[in-house]
Amino acid sequence: MLRADVAITIAPEVNKFLATPRKMLIDGQWVEAASGRSFAVYDPATGEVIASVPEGDKEDIDRAVRAARTAFDSGPWRKMTTSLRGRLMNKLADLMEQHAEEFAQLESLDNGKPASIARVADVPLAIDMFRYMAGWATKIEGNTIPVSWPGTYFAYILREPVGVVGQIIPWNFPLLMAAWKLGPALATGCTIVLKPAEQTPLSALLLGELIQEAGIPAGVVNIVTGFGKETGAPLAAHPDVDKVAFTGSTEVGKFIVQAAGGNLKKVSLELGGKSPNIVLKDADLDTAVVGAANAIFFNHGQCCCAGSRLYIERGIFDRVVDGVAEQAKQIKLGHGLNPETQMGPLVSDEQLTRVTGYLQSGLSEGARPLCGAQRYGDTGYFVEPTVFVDVKQDMKVVQEEIFGPVVTALPFKDLDEVLTVANDTIYGLGAGIWTKDLSKAHRLAAELHAGTVWINCYNVFDAALPFGGYKQSGWGREMGHEVLENYTEVKAVCIRL
Ligand code: NDP
Repeated sequence: MLRADVAITIAPEVNKFLATPRKMLIDGQWVEAASGRSFAVYDPATGEVIASVPEGDKEDIDRAVRAARTAFDSGPWRKMTTSLRGRLMNKLADLMEQHAEEFAQLESLDNGKPASIARVADVPLAIDMFRYMAGWATKIEGNTIPVSWPGTYFAYILREPVGVVGQIIPWNFPLLMAAWKLGPALATGCTIVLKPAEQTPLSALLLGELIQEAGIPAGVVNIVTGFGKETGAPLAAHPDVDKVAFTGSTEVGKFIVQAAGGNLKKVSLELGGKSPNIVLKDADLDTAVVGAANAIFFNHGQCCCAGSRLYIERGIFDRVVDGVAEQAKQIKLGHGLNPETQMGPLVSDEQLTRVTGYLQSGLSEGARPLCGAQRYGDTGYFVEPTVFVDVKQDMKVVQEEIFGPVVTALPFKDLDEVLTVANDTIYGLGAGIWTKDLSKAHRLAAELHAGTVWINCYNVFDAALPFGGYKQSGWGREMGHEVLENYTEVKAVCIRL
């Protein structure tokens, strides 16, 4: 493993942002938590405190929901033209562009990811999401329905905003997840209470400042920082919230469903994954090796759709796993603000414990590491990229989501066998196929139980491409026009002529 060893520099605007006591956004005002409490935010590369943010609780959620309700029922947001709504969203995207470097550095300091990656992935994708959704603001249409008694009735459909939306997001792509959630909610005219993850609240707070500067009215977007049980849970259970959108673990997703039951609010969930990545003999192996390494090691494996189960056709197994392990050994670990860094730390001490626990479990069950399988250094929460071979389909490391830079590799004999093992999971988020054979590619794509199938590529995201899961990977889709379904109610209007 290589260490990236260059001193880091932080932009003056970012230092100023961190040095200013942070507040949360409720009804257009930056406020302390009602309790007056706050909590520390850490740089996961060093374990040092970099900022502190208010520790919201139920009282703050109540305040934020009241503000969102008033903004929805009687504020200017729903009454303004959809064209103006779209323009305000584009203004927000323009402002984000002006602050792109601050976002990239904040993401790096808060989450640990290389700023070089945030600059080309997280930040531009988040901006693009707002622009794409701004376009939809003017295009949310109903249609006319030819009912069975022509000339007697005239019927049409209206699509209306679902109302006040609670949005609970995770720490792996903090800004991008905020954009995935806020974009469609704003485009459809909803009002929002957003809860960022406790580990990574900073970019959402900077986004809140720009939301105000863009002229989006007070109360439309409220941002409450805090812990899951104290803020996320009361938001999911709140009787005056019409819909909750959640991204995170499948375990908490199930709590969200229960909490939402009180008022039967609408629920959309983007949850865990254990995605198969399948390499066939006829693939361009050089491309497949690099692709398979990126599929798992991108964002340190902290991706819900990470290609964490590598299935390789017999005959090319050694060549592919050795290639992926060689890629892993070349990855430079270090602080995300170091320009040489290719992989930063895991997000938290808790995730370090969790991932190293899985490494131990793999080793004790007989998995053989071709590289990694241990913590890296003793400062920060780094883990060495790991390739496990000699694994069995029923091992914990093959069945459970690790959410770290750990891939398991298994050989297979033919398409029937690989389909059986690839679909042998409670999850169904993503899948990868590497082949030049069109028939095999299409057969696998059709029979894999996954919301996204990448062929000869992996982790390709676009605001226009729907993303979400089969089975326990979730309900509903993010992005694309499909996501608008999550944020609109359908009203059928029938007129007797
Ligand atoms: P969680 O599911 O706990 O966190 C996601 C979000 O939910 C956070 O904002 C969290 O708040 C909030 N939350 C936690 N508990 C509740 C609750 N009872 N009610 C409402 N909201 C709640 O994920 P973790 O951060 O604990 O990560 C654990 C595992 O989850 C990872 O190892 C990974 O397997 C998976 N995960 C999946 C993600 C995905 O993209 N699908 C993203 C992140 C994690 P708080 O931050 O305060 O805990």
